[in-house]
Amino acid sequence: MKSLINKLFSQSRLLKTIKCNNQLMILNYHRLHDTNKNIYFDDGVYGPDAKRFKLEMEWLKQETHIISEDELFDILYNNKKMNRACSMVTFDDGYVDNYNIAYPILKQLSIPAIYFIPTKHINERSLGWWDITAYLIKNTKLVKTHFRGKEIVFSDKKKIIADIIIELKKMEASRVEGYINELSTSLKVPIPSLELQGNELMTWDQIKEVSQNGITIGSHTHEHVILSRQTLRDLRFQIKKSKDILEEKIGQEIRSISYPVGGYDHFDLETKKVSESLGFKIGFSFLTGVNRFENIDPFDVKRGTSQPEWTNLDMALAFPDRVFQQERVTNAR
Ligand SMILES: [Zn+2]
Repeated sequence: MKSLINKLFSQSRLLKTIKCNNQLMILNYHRLHDTNKNIYFDDGVYGPDAKRFKLEMEWLKQETHIISEDELFDILYNNKKMNRACSMVTFDDGYVDNYNIAYPILKQLSIPAIYFIPTKHINERSLGWWDITAYLIKNTKLVKTHFRGKEIVFSDKKKIIADIIIELKKMEASRVEGYINELSTSLKVPIPSLELQGNELMTWDQIKEVSQNGITIGSHTHEHVILSRQTLRDLRFQIKKSKDILEEKIGQEIRSISYPVGGYDHFDLETKKVSESLGFKIGFSFLTGVNRFENIDPFDVKRGTSQPEWTNLDMALAFPDRVFQQERVTNAR
């Protein structure tokens, strides 16, 4: 393993020397892949397996200063200066592998991170619509079906899942549940039990434990709704409710929020204003690029995702914009 890391690091000295020192590159993950386990739900939320994740963390640690939420707060509000490339690690959605796989590695390497939690999912042990959609399509025995005026032929299930997820991301939140129930009937697959869904998520005890051991907890709203499409009243509810629940459950002030899905279609000026007025200090977007220290907007702190084809990891630091612009919009949740 050591020699592989050295090989990756020494591949290009040139890349290292042109590395940008005024940048903060934030890698966001959703799930890590346990290679011994079948994936019953959405494949699109999976990042690397444990071995690759550890390699990425060792690389970040060797090449950058990995900052915590506290340090980012000091950079944004207390004029703290950084004179080297910095990075940050975050996880969205509260999946159990954040605890089982990521947490032991982060702890072993003393790497701080932020876990962003959608509070209703943890409270009710229920997964998001993207996971349920994937489950229903993966489990249908039908060869084809008629659904909402269209014929769906199940020849390429991956593509069908991706297409439906794109459609659902554009849909008004109140119509999503009806759509999923209709899909379940049409595909003749029952909605998975809450037990099966809950097995994929961290428990409050696990979230509390990580919060006491180097992981900061942040809000990912209450119901993982797309914030730019909420009425002002619903927007305030989604943000405040999640903050109140998290503060009560873990006994710490919650200062950071990551906007669900996170692109510029999914949050807006009102989202930023309401987050600030409800006591948040930092808002994170997703698939939005790399931050330059001289112009970070505290309510649009940009994040990207690591890419499986980063065989030369230095590339990411030398040409961060180019790397992060390879947006995988369909994989944002
Ligand atoms: Zn999310």
